[in-house]
Amino acid sequence: MAMRADYIWMNGKVIPWDEAKVHVFTHALHYGSSVFEGIRAYERDGNPAIFRGPEHFERLLFSCKVARIPSPLTVDEWMQVTAEVLRANQHRSAYIRPLVFRGYDSLGVDGRGCPVDAILATVPWGAYLGAEALEKGVDVQVSSWRRMAPDTLNALAKIGGQYVNSQNVVMEAKDNGFNEGIALDINGYVSEGSGENIFLIYKGEIYTPPLGNSILGGITRDCAITIARDLGYTVRETTIPREMLYLADEIFFTGTAAEITPVRSVDRLPVGKGGRGPITKSIQDVFFGIIRGELPDKWNWFTPVSLA
Ligand code: PMP
Repeated sequence: MAMRADYIWMNGKVIPWDEAKVHVFTHALHYGSSVFEGIRAYERDGNPAIFRGPEHFERLLFSCKVARIPSPLTVDEWMQVTAEVLRANQHRSAYIRPLVFRGYDSLGVDGRGCPVDAILATVPWGAYLGAEALEKGVDVQVSSWRRMAPDTLNALAKIGGQYVNSQNVVMEAKDNGFNEGIALDINGYVSEGSGENIFLIYKGEIYTPPLGNSILGGITRDCAITIARDLGYTVRETTIPREMLYLADEIFFTGTAAEITPVRSVDRLPVGKGGRGPITKSIQDVFFGIIRGELPDKWNWFTPVSLA
């Protein structure tokens, strides 16, 4: 079933879903000249609460700057529009997708003469890698595709065209019978999944690639680091050689869609005992505890919205 909702925000107005249309000569459709975010709202007492909304919209504005596509809205305005669309759709929980893109004018590769269009959608969406995966873990392969070299694209920005690389990684993985792929960076060091950051646990310490290894600075990555340090673990943001994936006692992915998902095998080698490990579980317990409202939101990650 196609993803949909009743209403969507487009270029300043909340309109019926089926009316949100673009021309086929839209610049972004041809050249990937778009920037976007993926955000979640979780239900809190019958209303939605936006998870780390300001941080996501700050990253959207950063992506706009890098892509030289001006954002039509400020962070605060994006937050207001999000609340408006959640209300219009009466969504208690949702995946939220803002997108800013070069529209229809001409097909010159430098699209700065094209209008800038923008949408914000809220749609229902469950666990990205499957509900069972949150407990049992996923099987992954190291991709034959590398993440982009630092002087080719902008890994730290969420720019539409860059997701051709992510598509290569995930399509190859699925064709080979895996749930997801892990891409190495241009120097052969561990980078990230097609839409997730990665963490390894080795001898009780936690490792994750630094921002320079062609990763997106994930907001869930920041949650995992914050929670892990709060639990007293050492977290090292450091360059990780491929074989660490095979030595690790535990591995997990983080992402807005994937949340915190354990990895149970890499290249058909079991990670640790081949399931979710205890440190991964302890970080998940805090993360999902906050998300479900069972633990206090001590880092102020939620912005509540009233559906009334
Ligand atoms: N890396 C890539 C390439 C992604 O697309 C995503 C999803 N936005 C992530 C990492 C995870 O980032 P976040 O936790 O902010 O969703």
